[in-house]
Amino acid sequence: MRIIDILQAKNPALSYEFFTPKTDEGRKNLLANARLLAEKTRPDFVSLTYGAGGSTRTLTTALVTELQDMLGIPVMHHLTCIGQGRVALQGMIAALAEAGVDNILALRGDPPSGSDTWTPHPEGCVYASELIALIRLRYPECSIAAAGFPEGHPESGDPERDAERMKHKIRAGAEFLITQLFFETQLYTGYRERLARHGITVPILPGILPITHYQNLLKFTAGCKASVPQAVHDIFAPIAADEAATRREGIAWAVRQARELLDEGTPGLHFYTLNKAEPVLSIVKALQL
Ligand SMILES: Cc1cc2nc3c(=O)[nH]c(=O)nc-3n(C[C@H](O)[C@H](O)[C@H](O)COP(=O)(O)OP(=O)(O)OC[C@H]3O[C@@H](n4cnc5c(N)ncnc54)[C@H](O)[C@@H]3O)c2cc1C
Repeated sequence: MRIIDILQAKNPALSYEFFTPKTDEGRKNLLANARLLAEKTRPDFVSLTYGAGGSTRTLTTALVTELQDMLGIPVMHHLTCIGQGRVALQGMIAALAEAGVDNILALRGDPPSGSDTWTPHPEGCVYASELIALIRLRYPECSIAAAGFPEGHPESGDPERDAERMKHKIRAGAEFLITQLFFETQLYTGYRERLARHGITVPILPGILPITHYQNLLKFTAGCKASVPQAVHDIFAPIAADEAATRREGIAWAVRQARELLDEGTPGLHFYTLNKAEPVLSIVKALQL
């Protein structure tokens, strides 16, 4: 089933992101937690990341189909431009169509760690918009999502320019956006307004990362260059060594953020689970979705 059809029929939608594990133990853990989350909270869809540098290519596809069979809901396959030329990408898109994967989050991907410069494959796609166009061409029925950055993509240097460039992804065939993590509701509403000024009105699913560990949060946000508001530092820095208190405050922050977003009329909530059932179970329970 196409996720865009779900978003048009149901509001708010609930969805979760998992990452593709590289070990058998990680795979079992993911399957167990995905099953638990699905049974207890009935999400509308889940998504599975494509490892940095395309490192999980076959693993991701195998797990997407396994999760789809097990959960009986759409599973969105993340796909990046990294490491493959257009011919190989077309082969991969055809294989996804063949495997019944109806939903793709089309991304550019990031430079390898340690490098700040994006170097495309010599015969590949330079921007996500080109990958989106390729998917649209090879697999016209596919529902395609793209990444959105409430603070502007870090390389763009200017949120306004980044919003202008989003038009390429929408024109190529992206039907909805999922955002980078953020912690302040006004970043989402500001982004939605900015995109609307550029004529972009597709559904924008906010990506929410529940805070479970202060130091990991700092590392994670430094990596993806998402800002951390002072209020987060003020709450979580003093309790950094207290796991239970961090967990409690992390749930409270995510519930507050999700409620504010729903009040703002977001089309749904997309939680970054990090392959754990908790704390998302507690958050969704508190939201009474
Ligand atoms: C929800 C979400 C899920 C993600 N999942 C994964 C994953 O599974 N695997 C993974 O490796 N990475 C993933 N990422 C990270 C993503 O690959 C990086 O953030 C990457 O740096 C940008 O990807 P993009 O698709 O937005 O790129 P693009 O849309 O190509 O944009 C990249 C940069 O190029 C600029 N740009 C775009 N078009 C043009 C143009 N025509 N001319 C000039 N400049 C242009 C943009 O402004 C931006 O600065 C995810 C990110 C998000 C938000």
